[in-house]
Amino acid sequence: MNKFVDVILPLPLQGTFTYSVPENLQESVAPGCRVKVPLGKSKTYTALITSVHNTETIGYEIKPIIEVLDETPIILENQVKLWEWISKYYLCSLGEIYKAAVPQGLKGEFKPRTEQRVRLATKCNDKKVVNLLLQSLSRAPRQQRLLDTFIKVTDPFGNKKEISKHKLIETAQVNATIYKQLQEKGILETYEVEIGRLTKEYHEIVPHNSLNPAQKKAFEEINECFKQKNVTLLHGVTSAGKTEIYIHLISEALKKGQQVLYMLPEIALTKQITERLRRVFGSRIGVYHSKFSDAERVEIWKKQIGDEPYDIILGVRSSLFLPFQNLGLIIVDEEHENSYKQQDPAPRYNARNAAVVLASYYNAKTLLGTATPSIESYYNATTGKYGLVSLTTRHREMRLPKIEVIDMQEYCRKKLTVGPFSDPLVEAMSNALKEKKQIILFQNRRGYAPLLECKTCGWVPKCKHCDVSLTLHKNADKLVCHYCGYTIPAPKICPNCEENKFINMGYGTEKIEDDLQNLFPEARIKRMDLDTTRTRTAYENIIGDFQQGKTDILIGTQMVSKGLDFDNVAVVGIINADTLLNYPDFRATERAYQLMAQVAGRAGRKDGEGKVFLQTKMTEAPVIPLIVRNDYTTFYDQQLGERMLFHYPPFYRLVYIYMKHRDVRVLEEFSELMGQKMREIFDNRILGPDLPPVARVKQLYIRKIVLKVENTLSQYKINEVLLNIQQAFCQIARYRAISMYYDIDPL
Ligand SMILES: [Zn+2]
Ligand SMILES: [Zn+2]
Repeated sequence: MNKFVDVILPLPLQGTFTYSVPENLQESVAPGCRVKVPLGKSKTYTALITSVHNTETIGYEIKPIIEVLDETPIILENQVKLWEWISKYYLCSLGEIYKAAVPQGLKGEFKPRTEQRVRLATKCNDKKVVNLLLQSLSRAPRQQRLLDTFIKVTDPFGNKKEISKHKLIETAQVNATIYKQLQEKGILETYEVEIGRLTKEYHEIVPHNSLNPAQKKAFEEINECFKQKNVTLLHGVTSAGKTEIYIHLISEALKKGQQVLYMLPEIALTKQITERLRRVFGSRIGVYHSKFSDAERVEIWKKQIGDEPYDIILGVRSSLFLPFQNLGLIIVDEEHENSYKQQDPAPRYNARNAAVVLASYYNAKTLLGTATPSIESYYNATTGKYGLVSLTTRHREMRLPKIEVIDMQEYCRKKLTVGPFSDPLVEAMSNALKEKKQIILFQNRRGYAPLLECKTCGWVPKCKHCDVSLTLHKNADKLVCHYCGYTIPAPKICPNCEENKFINMGYGTEKIEDDLQNLFPEARIKRMDLDTTRTRTAYENIIGDFQQGKTDILIGTQMVSKGLDFDNVAVVGIINADTLLNYPDFRATERAYQLMAQVAGRAGRKDGEGKVFLQTKMTEAPVIPLIVRNDYTTFYDQQLGERMLFHYPPFYRLVYIYMKHRDVRVLEEFSELMGQKMREIFDNRILGPDLPPVARVKQLYIRKIVLKVENTLSQYKINEVLLNIQQAFCQIARYRAISMYYDIDPL
């Protein structure tokens, strides 16, 4: 009988593709295995089998697969189910999900990793010989130092430890040439050892801390909720010790033989939490995120489908795609964070919402935790869809910080400011420094100055490829586009009027750092933003230094708001709340509340309360007193009222439809046509087409249509209609080059 397979290709194409299976490969094909397949005239791809069957598709030529790459499936049934759900709900292709979900290395050859280690050459493997050699090397001090370091570290005639070549050279502080010289003299030699990429450090397991009465109560309530509901929201104030509760829940799941997925919104947070969890769960925990090398991710992936998978996976968004054999609990920490939503490229999914779906396939429970719930989650919790547990006391006697609102309009007028800092903030900072306490400053803009302007003619440098002005990065002496990365040297003279005077408008984190260093020359200052955290260790170092008290002041973008626990922070400064409050989006207030409440929550000390300075020119904004009073419920009620009135989530669902093209006239024509066709079906639920705030990025013009639908209508039906309209018009030659995509439940 003829055998066929349906496969997913790693391409942005809808649906699966059918291939035939030659006689000799029929035994080896199974769903979840990868196969090499031909496509078009000359291309081959690594595709993934979703099903094996005997039904021949009629109508087009079916090609045979070339090779089967796996002996056993690399993904499990529930993973394919999740992909199918994401594809249907978020309107993206299975191929796009396949590309995003599976690490590159799994799509090709995988080589075991080896390490070069060092030992004494046989003829020198004698204590006396080594001592003589050390003396004889007195004229080559660096060679001597290298040999000496080797003996001290590895103790070859005693306890015998191994050392890698790399580590030895680093420890002895010499270069590779010195090592080569000792090798050529026949003193040291190199040998190769195969090593795994996963940490095999020894962890001392300590019993987990017992819960304080408030935590214990919350823990019991969560378990009670889980008897009725599959999802529970834990709303706990900042520094309430939510992690401790998570640890107890994880430990219960492990006792039942279940696996746990613990999701965090930001890689920066993983180190702190990993250390904490490793102390309790030792090597049962694996960490997974995109700053790991692909090879490391492949190893974790393989471990999870093997006989001894990790019981706990700690990771960011992408860890949702890992294969789980027996998932019992998903924890989504800081559930309100935007970074759970993937923006670009597709799949544009929300990992928090997809986690709830994934858990349901395993009959597992999901716990969402945060101090500032998203409106959607709190709505689900108060209307009974989710369970709700509140935790209102901070741990270790920490009090909630006092928040002082500073009217910057008044302070500027009275000239009671130093640069971007008001007098009260300056005074508080200087006191904190004297008392050896720490400070966190928050400014949601990176770079030096967001806007550079010619003082004479008003010329503003703009990006060549996008509709935005360029940001000055002073340290690099460059102007950078934050949308496409386009970079030019900072101008010395204005190309418009040839004058040489420029004004820097606004404050980026870099400029705050400069001004602060002038104000407090002795202070040890570190900055945490996209520019200073490009490598995996950079984050960890900045946070580690601050935690160990090696840094006095930490300046950062929203990165400093994300659930980091420090216990010596006396002062938190929100430099300029206005940019948050002015943002043109219906979620601006929600985001402003979350960000400011979270940043404020970083203030606190073991022995007392911290102080927060909220600088703004918009003191009348209704959200400000709510932040000051830490009054989430009033904030929520107000927001919910507005959302209902103006037809926004959670009452309505949003779909943003983006269209991009190089030729603005073709794009306008197309987007008008789309708007018209969609209005015929969706009526006044369609808004636009409009220009988004940045209407041109990377040389492509952008138009956007907004669809607002009652949440009682089926998203899948709506998606079908949208796809039909798109397919009908994209066939037209004139519009074929237009790129069109959907953002479902956009953030
Ligand atoms: Zn000028
Ligand atoms: Zn640009």
